[in-house]
Amino acid sequence: MIYITNELIYNRQLLPNFMKDINFVLMPILNPDGYTYSQEKDRLWRKNRVKTSKKECIGIDLNRNWNYDWNNTNSDKDCCSDSYRGSAPNSELEIKAIIQYFKKNLTRIKGYITFHSYGQIIMYPWGYTKENLKDYNELHDIATSMSLKIFEKTSNIYTKGSASSTMYQASGTSIDWMRGKANIKYVFALELRDGGENGFELSTSEIIPTGQEAFCAISVLAKHIVLKYQSGSTFCRPVYSILYTILFIIYTYT
Ligand SMILES: [Zn+2]
Repeated sequence: MIYITNELIYNRQLLPNFMKDINFVLMPILNPDGYTYSQEKDRLWRKNRVKTSKKECIGIDLNRNWNYDWNNTNSDKDCCSDSYRGSAPNSELEIKAIIQYFKKNLTRIKGYITFHSYGQIIMYPWGYTKENLKDYNELHDIATSMSLKIFEKTSNIYTKGSASSTMYQASGTSIDWMRGKANIKYVFALELRDGGENGFELSTSEIIPTGQEAFCAISVLAKHIVLKYQSGSTFCRPVYSILYTILFIIYTYT
């Protein structure tokens, strides 16, 4: 996320024009207390740090709490589980905050990318079902372009497909909510490096190339969206589409 922020702000003059026509909204840390805990106590902590009905079991999996097919596949009702879905859909403050933002800006938001680790996979909805999206081809083509652009940049291979086909079926995830409830067309989740050698504990030498790969994916999506929303225009002068690509990093998600 720091790499992406740096490129967007301090290297702005190097960006292609289509990137300059876009508003990017970055959310660097989705899970603040979980993040702190991962630094201080448990390096691989995944959930947030909210209290549950059992004193000894803390935290809700923020990628199982979304109100879309909540409480179904691969989301645990056991509060001690690492994939505990919470006692109600959208119960968590972190998710409420994002939803509030999305509801306010719905007409302006054209795309959503969430960054996870690890696995080197470019995914799109659905997560909850193996069924394909109706516009599956368009999203799959974008994923293919992302994968090619990444390969050009770092020679690293990313596979692509729906979340349910490339990872596993899971319900209550952010990408399904973004597509299914917020109706955002261009929704992606990227599992970044590595391919499994060090897993969540990525070696420091891989941080910069991982940032470059994430940035490749953002550029591909940005270009696609600008072309899509500008070409449909009947105005004589260019109409700049306003894109909010919301970038989350949820660093311990699998
Ligand atoms: Zn993930």
